Amino acid sequence: MECPGCQFDMREHELDGVMIDECKRCGGVWLDAGEAEELVKKAPTPREALQKKKLELLRQWQVAALNPRETDRKCPRCPEPLMRVNYKDIPGLQIDKCRSDCGMYLDKGELEKVRLID
Ligand SMILES: [Zn+2]
Ligand SMILES: [Zn+2]
Repeated sequence: MECPGCQFDMREHELDGVMIDECKRCGGVWLDAGEAEELVKKAPTPREALQKKKLELLRQWQVAALNPRETDRKCPRCPEPLMRVNYKDIPGLQIDKCRSDCGMYLDKGELEKVRLID
């Protein structure tokens, strides 16, 4: 599968029991629909620690919400383009999501933040 970020070949990779697609070149990650929620459920860190980190992050995210816009990145699962949106309506946490809801593409470092949100 082609990386939407850099067109390199993505490889399947297991993360806490969930098979995700990862790009070894740019560090981007593709999550099929439902996998983000699955990863949140299987997060190895104790809930209290996550909760604290999440609140810290939410405090930093006091920026204006984004209007969804089309990117020039393509969904690796279908012919639709990826849309730049706020993940779960959280201002400041922007991800690329397929317009047909196949899944989402996360740039390096974004997965860690997405895993804090349930
Ligand atoms: Zn890549
Ligand atoms: Zn798609």
